[in-house]
Amino acid sequence: MKFYKTYNEKKQQCLLCNHYCILKEGQTGMCGVNKNVDGKVECLVYGYPAVVHVDPVEKKPLFQFLPNTKILSIGSVGCNFACPFCQNHGISQEHNINKSQYLSPEDIVNIAIAKDCESIAYTYNEPTIFYPYARDISILAHERGLKTVYVSNGYESDEVIKDMPGIIDAINIDLKSFDKKYYKRVLRGDLPVQLENIKKFHKSDIWVEITTLIIPTKNDSDEELTKIAEFIASVDTKIPWHISAFHPDYKQMDLDFTPLDTLERAYKIGKKAGIKQIYMGNLGQSNPTNCLSCGFEVISRTTYDTTKDLRKNGDTCPMCNEKLNGIFKSIRESSVAGSFYPNNCYEVTHHITQFNKFFENSDFIPKLEFKPKAIIVPHAGYIYSGFTANAAYSLLETLSPKRVLVIGPSHRVAFKGASVIPFDEFQTPCRNIQIDKEYSNELIKEFDFIDFNEDAHHEHSTETQMPFIHYYLPNAKVVEIVYGDISYEEISKIVSKALADHEDTFVVISTDFSHFHDLKTANHLDGIGLEAIKKLDLDIWNSGTEACGRIGVKALLKSSNENLLLSEPFKKLLITVNSEVLPVLFLPITKDIISSKSIENFFNNR
Ligand code: SF4
Repeated sequence: MKFYKTYNEKKQQCLLCNHYCILKEGQTGMCGVNKNVDGKVECLVYGYPAVVHVDPVEKKPLFQFLPNTKILSIGSVGCNFACPFCQNHGISQEHNINKSQYLSPEDIVNIAIAKDCESIAYTYNEPTIFYPYARDISILAHERGLKTVYVSNGYESDEVIKDMPGIIDAINIDLKSFDKKYYKRVLRGDLPVQLENIKKFHKSDIWVEITTLIIPTKNDSDEELTKIAEFIASVDTKIPWHISAFHPDYKQMDLDFTPLDTLERAYKIGKKAGIKQIYMGNLGQSNPTNCLSCGFEVISRTTYDTTKDLRKNGDTCPMCNEKLNGIFKSIRESSVAGSFYPNNCYEVTHHITQFNKFFENSDFIPKLEFKPKAIIVPHAGYIYSGFTANAAYSLLETLSPKRVLVIGPSHRVAFKGASVIPFDEFQTPCRNIQIDKEYSNELIKEFDFIDFNEDAHHEHSTETQMPFIHYYLPNAKVVEIVYGDISYEEISKIVSKALADHEDTFVVISTDFSHFHDLKTANHLDGIGLEAIKKLDLDIWNSGTEACGRIGVKALLKSSNENLLLSEPFKKLLITVNSEVLPVLFLPITKDIISSKSIENFFNNR
């Protein structure tokens, strides 16, 4: 995608911002960082950010976009404005590019993920001047589940505004004044253009919040603040307005700090104009986000720090159950972290690495000669069956499915059919995992026995699998399917659909085996189940196996048999790992059963 065009034989025109600079060969535009080089306008700061920093998203400021998360913030040198009060003038008014370290778009996304950020902001200076770089980063970021943010003076070109939806998720626009002359002469912008751009952004899919830095004597009169507030309200009273206090900086060291009563005056003016959410910045004020339906204070903050966050499922008011206004992720919150498995990432990772230490220098875990399509794993607490489940998951490290279907029985709620959760993310003690929302909705549409039953999704049989999936298949999305009163034939339809998906979809069937028996009885009963799985034989299974997730296992056996008829490789479908009393590692196709007895020997010989 190129953002320049040939103006005439000797000149190129930059299309990144509304200055539309016309550049002779070798000439650089007003921003100082886009240059005509050999008949092409080159963005000189591509790959060379001047600042890379992790901030709370509230610092952008964005209060209704993924609140209470971290954002990787990058900015370059250069700017298309010349604001004399710029708090980042050290980079924005600088044109020397430090090229000592190149950071590719992939590097930036990797840093964001490593730093646990949920989004990337183009900020500090005007990002439109490095849109080609921001665009490439954003495309990769979206592929990796991150969102993207522009903190801008709102002076984008039409070409960039048209391109931004789908690339940029949110924008905070500085509406610095309502005085045309001041905009033109001092800031070097154009107020009517900016006002039109705010309307265009608001009409697009991009989430908009607006900031006004209130500068004593420059834009703090009642008249001017009223014009700004009424303009915002005329676009949409639900657009959040951030009114921030100025401190003397750059060329305006002669002005005073903005006093609190000015912000309070602006707040009242904004409210009178009808703006629903107004936030006061830079003076340590309380800045709650209230539900627009019932008025309940859902998020409490002091300046940028979240002091209380009462959202339900990440995007809903806990009082009236209405969706909150803004960009929020719906989150399947963990229900059994801290009981079935540790509730912090360090301990989960420690458990897994300790489990794996048992296998070091042994052939206990075989090298697979095939790519498994499904596993059957237990779901008791990690101290009981975590070792066994981990043994199965550790065999999946070389796989790279797009999604993992996790199918488990409901233990808490009785209901007809099965339920899939069409949320955005699944919470784990480490990073949240993306839910494949599209696939989840597809299942609801395709099968009349599947719906979304929120009460079913506090289920441990599925939830206990998520930390393992996060650890071993970090790039896969998940689909959580909890079933109640349903036939195995119906669940088998879901499994068959997944197995037909080649390497894109992996299936996890969650079940424990027999409970509360002495070891001999447990081994006998579980042995029946293992034999049935080994032979893909439902008759054997029906002859006495005890398993809470029997519907899921039977569905997998049925689907495996059906697929067996279609294709020989499906013989190599299953690795199952299971047990309740002692770990039993079981590899039905490639290896003999490794029984609890041999596991005892294994541990005794170490
Ligand atoms: S980004 Fe704007 S200021 Fe810079 S060269 Fe392009 S049109 Fe000119």
